[in-house]
Amino acid sequence: MEKILEVKDLHVTFRTYGGTVKAVRGVNFHLNKGETLAIVGESGCGKSVTSNAIMRLIPDPPGKISNGSIRFKEKEITRLTEKQMRSIRGVDISMIFQDPMTALNPTLTIGTQLVEGLQQHRKISASEAKAKALDMLELVGIPNAVERLKQYPHQFSGGMRQRIVIAMALICEPELLIADEPTTALDVTIQAQILELFEKIQDATGVSIILITHDLGVVAKIADRVAVMYAGKIIEVGDKREIFYESQHPYTKGLLNSVPRLDLQGEKLTPIDGTPPDLFSPPEGCPFSARCPFAMEVCDKVYPVTTVRSTSHEVDCWLQDERAKQLLATAEK
Ligand code: SF4
Ligand code: MG
Repeated sequence: MEKILEVKDLHVTFRTYGGTVKAVRGVNFHLNKGETLAIVGESGCGKSVTSNAIMRLIPDPPGKISNGSIRFKEKEITRLTEKQMRSIRGVDISMIFQDPMTALNPTLTIGTQLVEGLQQHRKISASEAKAKALDMLELVGIPNAVERLKQYPHQFSGGMRQRIVIAMALICEPELLIADEPTTALDVTIQAQILELFEKIQDATGVSIILITHDLGVVAKIADRVAVMYAGKIIEVGDKREIFYESQHPYTKGLLNSVPRLDLQGEKLTPIDGTPPDLFSPPEGCPFSARCPFAMEVCDKVYPVTTVRSTSHEVDCWLQDERAKQLLATAEK
């Protein structure tokens, strides 16, 4: 499989008056061409920061990609100038955010925004651009496209606006689409429609997708692979089946247990007690140890080695590694 994106040892920090927040702490993952990778975790775990780093949208200062590499096809994203990045954003890599209104200009018609978005990056006539805009509205399922192009954002429902944002993100035919909580602001029925739309678009265009979400229901629907983040690290990654049925990390299991199940109505949910560690001074060992029912002494002292369970499934937890006992002995010396 062709890798379109490879992130290695990514570190992102933010300087604040209270000290330096280590928001992303050595993240590794890749994305294959044409697949959907979901990055899941609680708010503040570093998933949005990771996706913003890929787009080079970390405000510097106070933020900084302090280490690591982000390879998009042949390009090392971390080394590009802002000018080079501008020719990539919205063209090769597009991003969709939770609130569709922030991506749309309320004073311009949808048609103008789509056409200008395209003409900014492509040498293309106005009539060609308009034809492409019509195609895009059709692709994202907006009926009466000819009439709709003349309307303003406020004339559309929330779900329709998110469809327009998706059309805008895709009009330059990017190879990578990053969607940060794209359905969180929408009601459940519309959410399902937007998720179906992502699948349809991927089939039609072959675009690779990174989906940032805290919602495992969304993941179950459209992800091929899943990376679970906790306290600035990816603690488990696997294909969807491995994460949902064979998860090994106590945190992943806790997340899965906290999802309401329709078939177990009335059954009590078991959310994970406690809160994530302070990222001003994250623990040296496993960041989950304070909340983990299985924590051993070694967990507090040494960050777990990554155990490779299959070509797709990796987990950072001492329960997986026999060396935990040896290491504990050395750490105690
Ligand atoms: Fe729990 Fe230890 Fe595994 Fe961390 S490394 S998840 S504390 S058992
Ligand atoms: Mg976020």
